[in-house]
Amino acid sequence: MANKAVTMEKLVALCKARGIIFPGSEIYGGMGNTWDYGPVGVEIKNNLKRAWWKRFVQESDNSYGVDAAILMNARVWDASGHTTSFSDPKMDCKECKSRHRADTLIEAHSKGKVNPDTMSNAEMEAYIQEHQVHCPICGKFNWTNIRTFNLMFETSRGVTDESQNKIYLRPETAQGEFVNFLNVQRTTRAKVPFGIAQVGKAFRNEITPGNFIFRTIEFEQMEHQWFCKEGTDGEYYDSFKQKAWQFLLDLGFDEKHLRFKDHDKLAHYAKAACDIQYEFPMGWSELNGIHNRTDYDLTRHQEFSGKSMTYIDPITSERYIPYVIEYSIGADRLMLATLSEAYDEETLENGEVRNVMRFHPAIAAYKAAVLPLQKNLAPQAKELWEKLKKYFSVIYDEAGSIGKRYRRQDEIGTPYCITVDFDTLENGTVTVRERDSMEQIRLDLNGVIAFLTEKCIF
Ligand code: ATP
Repeated sequence: MANKAVTMEKLVALCKARGIIFPGSEIYGGMGNTWDYGPVGVEIKNNLKRAWWKRFVQESDNSYGVDAAILMNARVWDASGHTTSFSDPKMDCKECKSRHRADTLIEAHSKGKVNPDTMSNAEMEAYIQEHQVHCPICGKFNWTNIRTFNLMFETSRGVTDESQNKIYLRPETAQGEFVNFLNVQRTTRAKVPFGIAQVGKAFRNEITPGNFIFRTIEFEQMEHQWFCKEGTDGEYYDSFKQKAWQFLLDLGFDEKHLRFKDHDKLAHYAKAACDIQYEFPMGWSELNGIHNRTDYDLTRHQEFSGKSMTYIDPITSERYIPYVIEYSIGADRLMLATLSEAYDEETLENGEVRNVMRFHPAIAAYKAAVLPLQKNLAPQAKELWEKLKKYFSVIYDEAGSIGKRYRRQDEIGTPYCITVDFDTLENGTVTVRERDSMEQIRLDLNGVIAFLTEKCIF
């Protein structure tokens, strides 16, 4: 059962009102399906990326990070197969000129009962014809045939725009890890199995972007490629499924809102593939993917670049091209799932409704808010704020009643409110109010840093 309190409309409104996410280029009337992260949102998203990096690089034995260029040699995309086959089946409504994905039309029409992933274009056309699937925009039935539409954004380098200068905005970060396989292996002296991780922007000219930040044309991916020997790939595929699942549980996701979904139709190079789906406000959808990509990528890069991608085992001198287990999750999609999971409307004893975002403290934009009970306590409160700022992202607020200030912090999910009051002057203690339980404790001023450090670790 999805988080009952949340709807997409409520999330979009809250994000705009509280500085989490704004519509892109808003003063110019916007630009469809682009979004800008505001002061609160950028902190949350950075914290998600940090938590991911900590789990999959910092705390993982034998995993290393890279930050590869977005613009890559165009041959990379020939080798990866993107120039020829990174496309979606597009249909246009001849009446209202709207553009749709045939697979999405079928999925929506059959209410998820028919899986278009296993259908050819001809089969999809036949289904749409037979079931008279009408245009969801104008309600008419007058389609073009399916045409495949490459999702890569093209641009050109240099001063001329001749076709040989054509380059692409990367549609995934994975290739940056594959082309650096030997660079990383050599410089870290890593032995297979080892991993390469990357967090960065990717771009796809999606036919049907939408659902807020779920599907956009520019987004961030967090990808981890695990290079291993053929024969061990099945075991690592299973362990990455578990690791990806555990990461979500540790972020505070309710297991009831998550499920595994095996791919019905595997990509030609894949040996196994599954998604973890989350029950988003609009329904169950992919949150991340885990793929056994075999030795396809490195073999293709060897073929197209002419450079050997062979790994030589330092002990056995065995030579082979490793298999790859890929784990890939969109930072923005994780952000949407996190927002949706955290959203709550709590009815208090006095009947008032409290909006609260129940983020994991490590993910919350601010670890604490420092609040002087009254304005004349501002100097002492600011002193504490200055001290805490060196360690954490902390906010200061002195405007309005203490109750209103607590509510403001609840709405952006600040886990702790630290109030400086008259007792602070007398005995050097502060009140710490916890967001979820609203319970208050008194804490020695000297213990605040240790308290927040312990509570906010991921
Ligand atoms: P989908 O089926 O939703 O189009 P995909 O299977 O093409 O996704 P991958 O290519 O495996 O996705 O990308 C890995 C991850 O990147 C996805 O699980 C998702 O979290 C994220 N992602 C992919 N496309 C988008 C997008 N257009 N906007 C936001 N995030 C995306």
